[in-house]
Amino acid sequence: MNERPELDEYKLEEGNKDSVAFPELVTLIHSLSEPAPSRPWGRTSFYASDASICLRAQYYKWKGIPVTNPVDETVRGKGESGKIYEQYIKELIKRAGLWADEEYRIGSSDPPSSYRIDVLFSADALRYLYEKYTNELGLQRPLPEDMPRFIPVEIKSISSYPFDGGPHLTGVIEEPKWNHYCQLQMYLHEMDAPFGFFIYINRDDTRKAAHLMWRDQPLIDKILFRQRALVWYIEHNIIPEGEGYVSMGSRGGFTPDRTCKLCDHLYYCKWKPIMEQGSKKWKNKVKDAIVMVGEEYWTDEQREWFGE
Ligand code: SF4
Repeated sequence: MNERPELDEYKLEEGNKDSVAFPELVTLIHSLSEPAPSRPWGRTSFYASDASICLRAQYYKWKGIPVTNPVDETVRGKGESGKIYEQYIKELIKRAGLWADEEYRIGSSDPPSSYRIDVLFSADALRYLYEKYTNELGLQRPLPEDMPRFIPVEIKSISSYPFDGGPHLTGVIEEPKWNHYCQLQMYLHEMDAPFGFFIYINRDDTRKAAHLMWRDQPLIDKILFRQRALVWYIEHNIIPEGEGYVSMGSRGGFTPDRTCKLCDHLYYCKWKPIMEQGSKKWKNKVKDAIVMVGEEYWTDEQREWFGE
């Protein structure tokens, strides 16, 4: 048997703490991880995450108009870390024994749709485990009786404010966000399912919230109607009315409403009111955006205004 080691001999001593700043490594990682700038952006089918957005913004996506206000490094970093949290939830679902499939693709041709569902629960596993642990875990709400074979689950990671809500916002802990609600409805439509689940995770402290969401047929019908209408606009090369608004202050200050604020094509779409009434700062933003999208995407009116 080995003798008991004398720990004194193994004492940690401060080693050589010299280090050399090496920003080149950050540069290398950043430049190699940049998405290709010329990546084509057009759509050939509807995405469920677009279900609630402005028809004109959807039109721009289908036509492949380049994004005029791309997200910056901070937002991109948050998006990437969000994927890790979502992966973590998938892992928990697998370990719990509820997982049936993930990244499940489904779609149809009228209107053309191509959806990818985060996770499918196995209904048999859910029913079995739920009943087995009902008493032990004090589960009070019963599961719906009429269950399909697979149940779609949408996972979203989110920061504290939208998670908990605040004076001007209902948090997802109480109800799903509207755009997520519409997204899951389209999954229910394609799967012909009566209900699905949302699981939210708070990126700041990993708290979770879940919702069971019933199929909302009138809403699904409206979204399908809008999708078919958009197909018509696309076929006829007619840009639909914008469904969001901007207002100009007396000194040319510019305020987009909630719809436009998040829009990838804000300056491309709202170029005219800004060029007519906006301040120099906003006019410059429009000019940059117009240059960024490139002449091939200019409308006749933009060509007349900005062209040589
Ligand atoms: S800026 Fe507003 S109106 Fe224009 S496409 Fe975007 S959301 Fe629609």
